Amino acid sequence: MSDRVDLIIHNARILTMDEAHPRAEALAVAGNRLVAVGGEAEILALAGPGTRHVDAGGCSVLPGFNEAHMHIFGGSVSLTQLSLFGVKGFEALKSAVGAYAAQNPDLSLLVGLSADYTILSETEKVTRHHLDAILPDRPFVMYSPDRHTAWANTAALRAAGILQGRDVGVGNEIVMGEDGLATGELKEANAIDPVAEMGITAGRDHLGIGTGGDPDHVTAEERASDLALIRRGLAYCAELGITSVQAMDGNLYQLEILEEIEREHGLPVRVRMPFHMKNFMPLSMIEEKAVAWRERFAGDRLRSDFVKVFADGVTESGTAVMVDDYADQPGWKGEPLFTPEHFARVAVEADRHGLQVAVHAIGDGAVRLVLDGYEAARGTNGPRDSRHRIEHIEVVNPDDIGRFVELGTVASMQPTHPPGSAGLPLEPYLTRIGPARWPYAFAWRTLKDAGARIVFATDWPVSPLSPLSCIHDAMTRKPWRADMPDQRLTLQETLAAYTSEGAWVEFMEDRKGVLKAGYLADIVVLSGDVEATPHEEIAALRPLVTICDGVVTHRE
Ligand SMILES: [Zn+2]
Repeated sequence: MSDRVDLIIHNARILTMDEAHPRAEALAVAGNRLVAVGGEAEILALAGPGTRHVDAGGCSVLPGFNEAHMHIFGGSVSLTQLSLFGVKGFEALKSAVGAYAAQNPDLSLLVGLSADYTILSETEKVTRHHLDAILPDRPFVMYSPDRHTAWANTAALRAAGILQGRDVGVGNEIVMGEDGLATGELKEANAIDPVAEMGITAGRDHLGIGTGGDPDHVTAEERASDLALIRRGLAYCAELGITSVQAMDGNLYQLEILEEIEREHGLPVRVRMPFHMKNFMPLSMIEEKAVAWRERFAGDRLRSDFVKVFADGVTESGTAVMVDDYADQPGWKGEPLFTPEHFARVAVEADRHGLQVAVHAIGDGAVRLVLDGYEAARGTNGPRDSRHRIEHIEVVNPDDIGRFVELGTVASMQPTHPPGSAGLPLEPYLTRIGPARWPYAFAWRTLKDAGARIVFATDWPVSPLSPLSCIHDAMTRKPWRADMPDQRLTLQETLAAYTSEGAWVEFMEDRKGVLKAGYLADIVVLSGDVEATPHEEIAALRPLVTICDGVVTHRE
């Protein structure tokens, strides 16, 4: 063999995710490519004097994980914030926030993440008065797990200038109390942003979601601080075995920071980032931004080649859009962020330029609105291999399941999100959607059996980023009621949704997502045999080695 071999991984249980050759014992890497995948003796024979060897000790080796829905800037910032994941009751909240405040005496805004809607109890709603009793004089805000709702104390509301309320537009709300002042509950980005802007990035990490635009005035120090935060976030991805991330918010500011990281240091993870189309933007932005960015950011390590849209909010706050009324709120179905006609125009225009569209749609009404738009795009532009996606699909109307297949729409779903999974409470979610919708909630198996293609991810920082923890959640999910369908995929299908399907949804199945000669060397070596590990113990597996583009990006 003429190629020099840089690295051999052997004594491994390789799950190649390549259907033609699903298993192997060893693989060889030269530069950034796999040059051979096969049997132990055959691969070891390729070694030369400079070849490094990794003995996998009989553990699983997989294509590097592809996190198909996440937020890199917000996730990176979350590494500096307080996780309230699993915290329950006032006393527990008080001690967690108190300790975090004491450790961070200089922060202008203290931020808590993943606070359950029922963090105090099943019945008591959080108000600024609860938070004032914990932190009376320093601004504090905590976010729900989905980050669509936040609760701020009086100091934060006052400093942000919203204690007296403010009009924040359709679908957003600063909840007001009977005393004429804000209660502390803030729904959706426009309501939360005035408080978030007091944080260490001055809210810059939220712009990719909030406006899709760039920050106005950024000093060199602020930009350097943001770049360092994102680098730390990317390194964290590599530690978790991830080699590709698909960001679900975007702006030019982040793309240029990522471009600089790539130029100066090399990205340790491949990043894909969208143009975020908001409802106030003219259609011409698709050509001016999304098409221009596709040309400018077109590498295998950094690319911008799709359009992200939000069609609705979240169920807990009543901002998800349902076909029928909320079970606990007669007369209320939620309001879409785009009218059906407006979204259809966006879908037609993006599709006309050959751009993939990915839309956040949580309620079954929003899912339908998006499918209608994709159908309009196909009707106007003709059928093509568009791979348009719907993100989340927490509830789907049974009449729409077959349309995913007819339209070739990809289901991008998060095994960390179903209530009852990943430590999330069942309420208020189950009551809000009502038992009639339960069988069609987070319906991965139902959609897959109907023929839809599925990708999995965590939506970090909404949920913890670890793919192995997410795969554990996928494999251990339990029905909410005995007569509900088991929505789990098989382990093989679940791993595919985190590897080969993720590459396919990026239109990169000719280069990555499987371990095969000629493909990019994106590899993760696990600390055990994932197939022999009981499902309950999968989260305890660790990535021992991560390789991205032929470079070792993590080694335990
Ligand atoms: Zn998201």
